[in-house]
Amino acid sequence: MFYLTDEQKMLQDAARRLAEEKIAPRAAEVDRSEEYPWDNIKLLTEAGFMGMTIPREYGGQGLTYMDAVLVIEEMAKVCGVTGRIVVEANMGGVGAIMKYGNEAQKNLAAGLVLAGDKPAICITEPGAGSAATEMSTTAVKQGSSYALNGIKHWITGGGVSKLHLIFARVVEDGEDKGIGGFIAVRGEAEGLKVGTREPAMGLRGIPETEIIMENLVVSEDMMVVPPEGLKRGFAGLMNAYNGQRIGAGTVALGVAQGAYEHAVNYAKTREQFGRPIAEFQGLQWMLADMSIGLSAARALIHNAALNAKGGFPNMREAAQAKILASETAIKVTNDALQIHGSAGYSRNLPLERMARDARMFTIGGGTAQVLRTQVAGSILEMRTPQTRDGYARLAAKKMAAE
Ligand SMILES: Cc1cc2nc3c(=O)[nH]c(=O)nc-3n(C[C@H](O)[C@H](O)[C@H](O)COP(=O)(O)OP(=O)(O)OC[C@H]3O[C@@H](n4cnc5c(N)ncnc54)[C@H](O)[C@@H]3O)c2cc1C
Repeated sequence: MFYLTDEQKMLQDAARRLAEEKIAPRAAEVDRSEEYPWDNIKLLTEAGFMGMTIPREYGGQGLTYMDAVLVIEEMAKVCGVTGRIVVEANMGGVGAIMKYGNEAQKNLAAGLVLAGDKPAICITEPGAGSAATEMSTTAVKQGSSYALNGIKHWITGGGVSKLHLIFARVVEDGEDKGIGGFIAVRGEAEGLKVGTREPAMGLRGIPETEIIMENLVVSEDMMVVPPEGLKRGFAGLMNAYNGQRIGAGTVALGVAQGAYEHAVNYAKTREQFGRPIAEFQGLQWMLADMSIGLSAARALIHNAALNAKGGFPNMREAAQAKILASETAIKVTNDALQIHGSAGYSRNLPLERMARDARMFTIGGGTAQVLRTQVAGSILEMRTPQTRDGYARLAAKKMAAE
């Protein structure tokens, strides 16, 4: 790729070597055992891939999202779980804290992540998925602290992550002030509990669990408020999530790229009717379409990452990239499995794991439908409220302002 610097090419090569030599051989076992790959964490930490985007003054390398996506794709090509760990150790929660946090928060987050912690970001609740702002977890001000109560679910890393960034509705003197982020460390904070683990379809090496807050007391110093203030706190914190979205898109891309490479090799070596199956035009066109989808998805991801220029990616570009990458990944992994015939359906090969892993990315971190609504809102330069009375309320507000 012409736009990669020499340093980025070296970083990509180093990530590829680690992925192929050390991560790939364990990927099937991580999936089978459903155990968090602590060995891989050690390798990622030694390689400097945990917290590589953390600024130098906090002990990181100050690398960019573009640098991170190069590493993530290499990891995800061989192990989707490891790719996701690199995302969460460089984007999302840690990204929000390093951008908006105070000194104590930044030092805490950097220290944990650089030592190998993959932070958990806790937004979704059983009653508030796509409608995330309808969350019912509250943070009630009590003197110089907040008491958090509520239940989050589908929290990636529940039970293995230490650093948690918990989104909650802030209540002061009985008044709803908006949504803020609260930092709590598992093992140190009483009242932070890990609930039931989801029996997930794919990406099984990372637990997805409930996180339960029962009078979890968080000092006001550990509240993260973006510059927009609490009233626009959710939107501000979600800016950081645009980074997570290109990261998630890159895991989808990497998993699909891995499956595609298996398919190309298999097509060249498997013979039927006395010739390699690669000679059948039906499969040739499948492979051509797969490569087109992968290149297009990679271009959108790199575009969003490059345009971030040290900040967070733009919402529309991040959403476009995640939508295309996640939908391409479902198609490509399925086609790669198909090209393998029965061998692809066997758990002896990684194709079925890749197809299961790829299935997540049109759901987690903003569904493809909800992201399309955001893209449309950005194109049309209009708000797109989704509640039944949303447009009526907007119209009433406009009339009142006139
Ligand atoms: C593997 C995995 C890991 C996750 N990790 C985390 C995590 O670490 N932290 C966290 O906070 N959350 C996490 N999530 C939760 C994820 O962000 C939510 O699943 C997602 O936001 C969708 O919410 P939901 O599952 O409740 O679906 P729902 O919101 O109930 O949606 C159901 C269906 O309705 C559609 N829909 C809903 N509203 C609209 C609309 N307005 N227009 C059109 N269609 C709509 C959706 O697209 C979907 O198809 C994870 C999820 C998964 C699967």
